[in-house]
Amino acid sequence: MLIATLAGVKWHQNQQKNKIAEHESEQSVYVEAAIANTNQAFGLPMEKAGAIQDYAEFGKVARFANLFHSAIDYFAKPGTEVFAVADGEVYFSGAEGGYGALVVITHDRPGIYSLYGHVSAKRWLVEQGVQVKKGQLIGYTADTNEGYGIGVVPHLHFSIRLGNPEDYPNSGRDNWMTGYTQKHPAFYNFVDPEQFIQQTKIGHRE
Ligand SMILES: [Zn+2]
Repeated sequence: MLIATLAGVKWHQNQQKNKIAEHESEQSVYVEAAIANTNQAFGLPMEKAGAIQDYAEFGKVARFANLFHSAIDYFAKPGTEVFAVADGEVYFSGAEGGYGALVVITHDRPGIYSLYGHVSAKRWLVEQGVQVKKGQLIGYTADTNEGYGIGVVPHLHFSIRLGNPEDYPNSGRDNWMTGYTQKHPAFYNFVDPEQFIQQTKIGHRE
């Protein structure tokens, strides 16, 4: 009986993995189109720091325990510089819910946007509506009293998503600035940020 149950669990897990793989393979068509359209190699949002929570990992804090993380969290001391990963336009810059402050940049409409959470509203933030270049300073990671989500560990929450922010609803788990998703984030058109950046580098050698 136990073996049958375990086999059932395994089967279910494999089904889940297959569904995710299937969706990611469907998604890859759009990812390739976005990479072709973007016409630039993306960079990293900060000088390389260790990831403390990976893309698609389950939430590491109780309130997100059964949700997938739609971003990578990079450990960074308060005040660490955050850079635009590619040329684009600042769609949002300011205080936003659990992020403390948030910056969102749209790239090559229609196509792709990047999101930078737990930046500091107090130090300095790039102005909404301006054009930015890849590698341009857009803000600094938040100070200890500005809130980080994962306990008191300062970090940058960094996402890349297909489409434009206004393609997504203003509320619920699939909204334009969501940090956690109910299903694997690929189902909400998020991509693995580091993998995507690598793909843009291969697609657009500098
Ligand atoms: Zn995060």
